[in-house]
Amino acid sequence: MLDIDKIRAEFPILTQKIQKKDLVYFDNAATSQKPKSVLSALAHYYEAINSNVHRGAHTLAAAATEAFEQTRLLAQAFMNAEHLEEIIFTRGTTEGINLVAASYGRTVLRPKDEVLVSMLEHHSNIVPWQLACQATGAVLKVIPIHADGSLDQEAYRNLLSNRTKIVAFNHVSNALGTVNPVKDMIKEAQAVGAVVLVDGAQAAPHFRINVQDLNADFYVFSAHKVYGPTGFGVLYGKKKWLEQMPPYMGGGEMIKEVSFERTTYNVLPYKFEAGTPNIADAVAFAESLRFVQQHGLENIAKHENELHDYAMQLLPKVKGFRAIGTAAQKVGVISFLVANTHHFDLGMMLDAQGVAVRTGHHCTQPLMRHLGIEGTVRASFAVYNTKREVEVFVEALEKCVKMLT
Ligand code: PMP
Repeated sequence: MLDIDKIRAEFPILTQKIQKKDLVYFDNAATSQKPKSVLSALAHYYEAINSNVHRGAHTLAAAATEAFEQTRLLAQAFMNAEHLEEIIFTRGTTEGINLVAASYGRTVLRPKDEVLVSMLEHHSNIVPWQLACQATGAVLKVIPIHADGSLDQEAYRNLLSNRTKIVAFNHVSNALGTVNPVKDMIKEAQAVGAVVLVDGAQAAPHFRINVQDLNADFYVFSAHKVYGPTGFGVLYGKKKWLEQMPPYMGGGEMIKEVSFERTTYNVLPYKFEAGTPNIADAVAFAESLRFVQQHGLENIAKHENELHDYAMQLLPKVKGFRAIGTAAQKVGVISFLVANTHHFDLGMMLDAQGVAVRTGHHCTQPLMRHLGIEGTVRASFAVYNTKREVEVFVEALEKCVKMLT
């Protein structure tokens, strides 16, 4: 059992008053808050270790390199990657997908090849593939959804063919919270010879990720949604792909030898890590991984699911409440609308009562268009949230709705 009061005490930001009310932070799918251990690691890095990594002859350079590379080891264990060099540090999910789309995508795609993405995707798992398709003459196809927000698996199987070269979908939808059956979907894509990228931005905070068990070709996530700092993330890629892919960016760190005539590239993972990396945030992220490890992702997910179920018990009593996305497999997120109120008005009015939720299209405009809506209100949970906060949120929502209708 998790001691939520004790866990809350690790997050200084949660003690803040917003608009003179206790903060209820239900915008965790956008970014989670960070425990003290992460904040202290960041300060400690700059106070005691700061130096550039790799190639340094002096003590601080060695200490910075060691701390930086320690995170790679932890990330490898976190994802259960077979090889350490399969862990590439990025600025986040977006950069990870762009790297794969530009480096792998543009290399392998030929005119009329097909790239499949799903209706549930975040813009960052759509636009990089559009760019790759535009550059190569490949065609982007979309896996449709059922009315409850689950992916239409039959349509998916029908879309797969020997023209399908890349399939990219999220593990968990940020807009609806749908959990996709990624293991089966990966198997089906690979059966037609396609390579699969999984956008794990919304899964990493809730599930134990096992890239070997999933047999994912690429898997990406951002640190800032897993109790870690912004501007840092991880791309896992199977060694056999990463080895044959050209560099994404050129610069320092990613080279073996440079001349004006010809440059040779560094070994993995450094071939994909041009320039001085985000050392401080990488080092601090080790503490986030220790935090989830200490509390256990299974326990965290169980707690969040209880909050989700409790909220879904209470919310229907709000007149006009309509859940958007009701798939059987869901995690951490409740997207909704209330009667004919505008989602943005609801968000502003909830904020006036100290409740932070996200409103809008959640970077999923094609999905919103498909659903015939402009956006939703989204409440999303993390380990430090409580049932009492769910009650405060529902009471606040009732108040807003009364004022607006
Ligand atoms: N994919 C999904 C499913 C997301 O939820 C997000 C963040 N909202 C992203 C991609 C993009 O992540 P980032 O902005 O951290 O690169």
